[in-house]
Amino acid sequence: MNKIVLACDLGGTNLRMAAIDREGNILYRTKRDTPKSDRADEIVRTIVEQAGECREAVRTSGCVEAIAAAVPATVSVERGMLLKSPNVPCLDGFRMVAALESELSIKAMIENDANAAAVGENWLGASKGFRNSIMVTLGTGVGGGIILNGEVLRGVDGTAGEIGHICVEPFGAPCGCGSRGCVEQYSSASAIVRLTHLMEPQYPKSVLQNKPRLSSADVYDAGKNGDELALEVFRQMGFYLGISMADLVNTLNPEVIVIGGGAAAGWDLFIHHVEEQIRSRAFREPGLRAKLVRAVLGDDAGILGAARLAFD
Ligand SMILES: [Zn+2]
Repeated sequence: MNKIVLACDLGGTNLRMAAIDREGNILYRTKRDTPKSDRADEIVRTIVEQAGECREAVRTSGCVEAIAAAVPATVSVERGMLLKSPNVPCLDGFRMVAALESELSIKAMIENDANAAAVGENWLGASKGFRNSIMVTLGTGVGGGIILNGEVLRGVDGTAGEIGHICVEPFGAPCGCGSRGCVEQYSSASAIVRLTHLMEPQYPKSVLQNKPRLSSADVYDAGKNGDELALEVFRQMGFYLGISMADLVNTLNPEVIVIGGGAAAGWDLFIHHVEEQIRSRAFREPGLRAKLVRAVLGDDAGILGAARLAFD
């Protein structure tokens, strides 16, 4: 019988699930809104319903052996528990593995979503074949996952790999984590919008002036057309990202750094600034070795990574 696992990606907006086989083929997938609830049991119920739908859909293709969930939280993998979940606060301290195992009667596991994405890209995506890789996700925040010698680096409290909170400006913008000047405040999709508004007064001719509901994609479009404000935003975004990457290159000596998330779409406007900072700040050999590549799996990195962890 073909072995199949269920992989779930619990985001702040969407809850996605897929049935996946040993080769990483997605056999069936579902997507729902994440319940806007302050109760963990409602989130579990939505996961269980989708798991039921996926199981039914692949009933004749193989045997569903386990479920793995990628969650937007600091996770204790051994205890099967979410420690701190800033975007879905009702899951703080929730023992999700026990809840899923009792509802579904299969083995369950959880992993931090950025770590899962790093594993997904390492299994089937941009860092395939490398044993030492770093994944950075530039979304609302900056997520990070580190794989060293083929293993996810979790640290004793499960918080390792929080690349977004590397300080790049000691007296810089305050961050949600309680510190200030974190790279998340300069290089995330939200930061691109923040920096654009901040510098707007200096660029009165910019097409981005007074644009309602500005997004990082608008800033990219303007930059492609040569808008000076947009180009300066991406220069700063790449400059700060590059400083954090140079630190990681010196600390961890990775073979490859994968950059994904919504703001990675601005790649051609920021990547040479990242490279310049790595070149000027990191040790020569590791700086030359670390390849910068764009993520290729998009939204599927998390579920594929969760599936891989479930098979392992
Ligand atoms: Zn921070």
